[in-house]
Amino acid sequence: MALTGKVAVVTGSNSGIGLGVARTLAMRGAKVVINSFTDRAEDHDLARELAAEAGSEVAYIRADMSKGDDCRALIARAAERFGRVDILVNNAGIQHVERIEDFPVERWDAIIAINLTSAFHTTAAALPGMRAAGWGRIVNVASAHGLTASPFKSAYVAAKHGVVGFSKVTALEVAGEGITCNAVCPGYVLTPLVEAQIPDQMKAHGMDRDTVIREVMLARQPSKQFATTEQIGGTVAFLCSEDAAQITGTTISVDGGWTAL
Ligand code: NAD
Repeated sequence: MALTGKVAVVTGSNSGIGLGVARTLAMRGAKVVINSFTDRAEDHDLARELAAEAGSEVAYIRADMSKGDDCRALIARAAERFGRVDILVNNAGIQHVERIEDFPVERWDAIIAINLTSAFHTTAAALPGMRAAGWGRIVNVASAHGLTASPFKSAYVAAKHGVVGFSKVTALEVAGEGITCNAVCPGYVLTPLVEAQIPDQMKAHGMDRDTVIREVMLARQPSKQFATTEQIGGTVAFLCSEDAAQITGTTISVDGGWTAL
């Protein structure tokens, strides 16, 4: 599943799943753009470390995925830097856990913008180049919450269901042009995003950390194990391979059996 010479952009990739995906793609030979909304020395250091580890080219480009212009500029700058964009992984995402009546409007808007609308902007910006090249891979990191729901996660569940629907539409609009679009639906992966939910879940359920992990977070994950960022990276790399050329407009769950329940 070599991706030598391909150019990949992974949004929200200085941490967690995005970083795992960027590392996997770089290790398989792709030139990779990693991204977040910050512009710290450590972001650029991370790109240098990944490049050295993978023996590939990796660049960090700052862009705020809550802003449409930034999303589109990310694709333009990546194409300027590496010549084109072959692989787009829409991964940036945030979470907020609160019942609907108390859910802050600002959090709702931010979740919809970052988790859903950013994929529209980056996809719109990337498709002309992919169509011209006759090859492209778009992988949207949705969630088990793109297929099922949980209480207190209204904006996240709405956004992730939206991402699954948007992936299908994208796939249909480019079918037959060498471009595929799919959504990966992870169950729980232990990343900073999930770590940050643990205190809220402890509060909401009145449980200690270990109990909330076992009884609440992994309650619906029959394997009782978190998925790893490497496993999500491997799944994305597979979808980018030629073996997956006829897999489009669908979802792949990496959820330890969650959505089989
Ligand atoms: P994380 O918090 O570790 O990483 C999120 C990434 O998004 C970070 O790199 C962060 O800098 C970036 N980001 C946040 N706001 C941004 C913005 N405005 N502009 C650009 N980048 C921004 O979280 P994670 O768990 O790695 O989540 C990554 C994706 O995977 C998200 O879309 C999340 O919904 C999804 N997901 C995670 C899990 C899980 O259990 N961790 C499960 C299913 C789906």
